[in-house]
Amino acid sequence: MDIEFENDTNYLDQHFLIDKSIINAVVDAAELKINETVVEIGPGKGDISETIARRSKHLTLIEIDKKLEPFLNVIKDKHSNVDVIYGNVLDVYIPECDKIISALPYSITEPFIEKLIRCEFKEAVLIVGKKFADNVLEKNLNKLALLTNSFFRVERIMDIAPDAFSPEPRVMSTMIKLTKLKREELNYSFKKFIFRELFFHRDRKLKNNLMEALIEFVKLHDKKLTKKESKAIIDSYKLPKETLNKEMENLSNEEYEMLYNSLK
Ligand code: SAH
Repeated sequence: MDIEFENDTNYLDQHFLIDKSIINAVVDAAELKINETVVEIGPGKGDISETIARRSKHLTLIEIDKKLEPFLNVIKDKHSNVDVIYGNVLDVYIPECDKIISALPYSITEPFIEKLIRCEFKEAVLIVGKKFADNVLEKNLNKLALLTNSFFRVERIMDIAPDAFSPEPRVMSTMIKLTKLKREELNYSFKKFIFRELFFHRDRKLKNNLMEALIEFVKLHDKKLTKKESKAIIDSYKLPKETLNKEMENLSNEEYEMLYNSLK
């Protein structure tokens, strides 16, 4: 099938996987079971979708570019367990599922991860920029690494060279697997728990956010912390007033690191 990809779709950063061994590796990493439901985001021409459809109970595709419809229709016609939603993944509702598979433009990795923390799924296999993967796996203390590591266990499946795609992207890519951590599993990890609560309420002022997070942490251990006690703990962290008055989403990376190191 021949379709012209005009310049106006360049911003969608379309790089289609052409290396069959990588396509298979994506599906293998997802460890699909035949009774599982899958959402694939940014299916492109559906090169991975076909295999997913064969190995799962139901597959929902979320694709922003309507020009790809003829390709995705071929898959829909062949497999009765496939649905397509046309829209921006950042705006549409991601249906509850067992597995998420996606290769999205690297420029939207951050808002996409922020969206994933609120979605119901067990595991996700993502192709991301190698820089993002390294940052997260090194467990750095910047926003993106803290956000990702607070909600997910992250594994590197493999690095992918540009020539696995057509057209070739300018940077190296990495396939990673995210496994959702359950809130209850985190009660042993104080900092992770607190950051998770903070990220979940990203538009709260840090001081209020932190107060509620500390109260929630203590509650998890069947004890009670009053607002006053919580405030005293926050005072002991000696964070700048200016930082405490910022909404979580507006903190700088330096402030994230300072916050992480002061928590005890
Ligand atoms: N998974 C395919 C295509 C990867 S290219 C493959 O590996 O061959 C990235 C895909 O994401 C493209 O199909 C592009 O149209 C789609 N895309 C880009 N931005 C998107 C967004 N915001 N929401 C949903 N899909 C998007």
